[in-house]
Amino acid sequence: MPDKPGLTSHLNLNVRGLPISATLGINERSHELIRQGRQIFKLGLGQSPFPVPEVVVNELRINAHQKDYLPVLGLPELRTAVADYYHRTQGLHFAGEDVMIGPGSKELMFILQLVYYGELVIPTPSWVSYAPQAHIIGRQIKWLETDASNHWKVTPQNLSRLCASDPDRPRLIILNYPSNPHGYTYSNDELAAIAEVAREYRMLVLADEIYGEVNFRGDHTSIAQFYPEGTIVSSGLSKWCGAGGWRLGTFAFPAELQWLKHAMATAASETYTSTSAPIQYAAIKAFQGGPEIDEYLIQSRRVLAHLSDTLVSRLHAAGFDIAPTHGGFYLFLDFEAFRPELASQGLVDSVALCEQLLNDTGVALLPGVAFGRPLGELTVRIAFVDFDGSAALAAASALPAGQPLPADFSARYCTNCVTAIEQICRWVAGFSTTPPG
Ligand code: GLU
Repeated sequence: MPDKPGLTSHLNLNVRGLPISATLGINERSHELIRQGRQIFKLGLGQSPFPVPEVVVNELRINAHQKDYLPVLGLPELRTAVADYYHRTQGLHFAGEDVMIGPGSKELMFILQLVYYGELVIPTPSWVSYAPQAHIIGRQIKWLETDASNHWKVTPQNLSRLCASDPDRPRLIILNYPSNPHGYTYSNDELAAIAEVAREYRMLVLADEIYGEVNFRGDHTSIAQFYPEGTIVSSGLSKWCGAGGWRLGTFAFPAELQWLKHAMATAASETYTSTSAPIQYAAIKAFQGGPEIDEYLIQSRRVLAHLSDTLVSRLHAAGFDIAPTHGGFYLFLDFEAFRPELASQGLVDSVALCEQLLNDTGVALLPGVAFGRPLGELTVRIAFVDFDGSAALAAASALPAGQPLPADFSARYCTNCVTAIEQICRWVAGFSTTPPG
């Protein structure tokens, strides 16, 4: 008699065979290698290098005793603080009731995809988890072609072409900028043009603006300014407030999309119940802002901009085709210029490339394929976060305001990141000088 299939074969087919998320996978692998005694440059997981601002940590201390379950949509005072934050920073008119708080914006995105019935539209490259979430839920995914020379941005032409192929199909587009994985952002004109297409085809826009506050120039604009009726604005504490592990995300809904918020509340109430109470109380302070938060953001942007520029110019000098970025803490690097040398070593895809780099140099990165790029493309994501953010912030604050940081700032305070990039540059140079055979 043939063996009866075990219970494992009854796994949901949408989950069967899926690995854990690439970002978490590379983080756990890096820690394992460090435990084994390897020196690893942790440029895999995109975790903010900065500490949570002291004023926010203090609020958490004060509220450690908060033990009650909170309303599923979130603590009313926090929801109001988030609405006020959008009014203050973007001129957007949300009321506290329009805001939903969740245990990370990632969870809110999953629930949104669960309750909304439509095709997911995302540019390639996009953050690693949008597509797997759609896959788990069983939604269709349409990747929008982009162009490296246009900073991998969505264009109204491409979007319009995709929508015109089936104009009535319900669609959710996720627009994330400054972008994870490439650090580029959109101009107001570009946002307005995308908004026009979204409006024409009644698309739902999820504006993932979690890196908005770490736009280097501090002039992030929400696409909700151009398409308020169809945009949900997503953010959280993870990237601009250094609190990824606190797990707090926010969605702000326009009046027209309250039905989605209600459906999400139902799904949330039957799954995670509510977001951690002490974290919600502490988050009020973060969204209310104030001089300490302003100073924290100014110095965070200053450090990240300097580091990004330093890394980009070193990579450029080593022969990579890469332009300065606009925000966040990522670079998306293409090794195409070195393809013949890499191919001669048997490295013809982004996974093999990252493996070999990790093995030879200790630099942990993620392959472009994890972000929806073709496997054979030699792209990788660099998360330039392996440095002591507290020391870097303190050093930047001690330098005269409003002036560029000294040229050697990143080499002094973000040493691991600069060393890792130098390792990459030396690694490719080594291949170019190695005689074939
Ligand atoms: N957003 C971060 C990244 O792309 C990490 C968080 C996550 O993936 O859950 O690396």
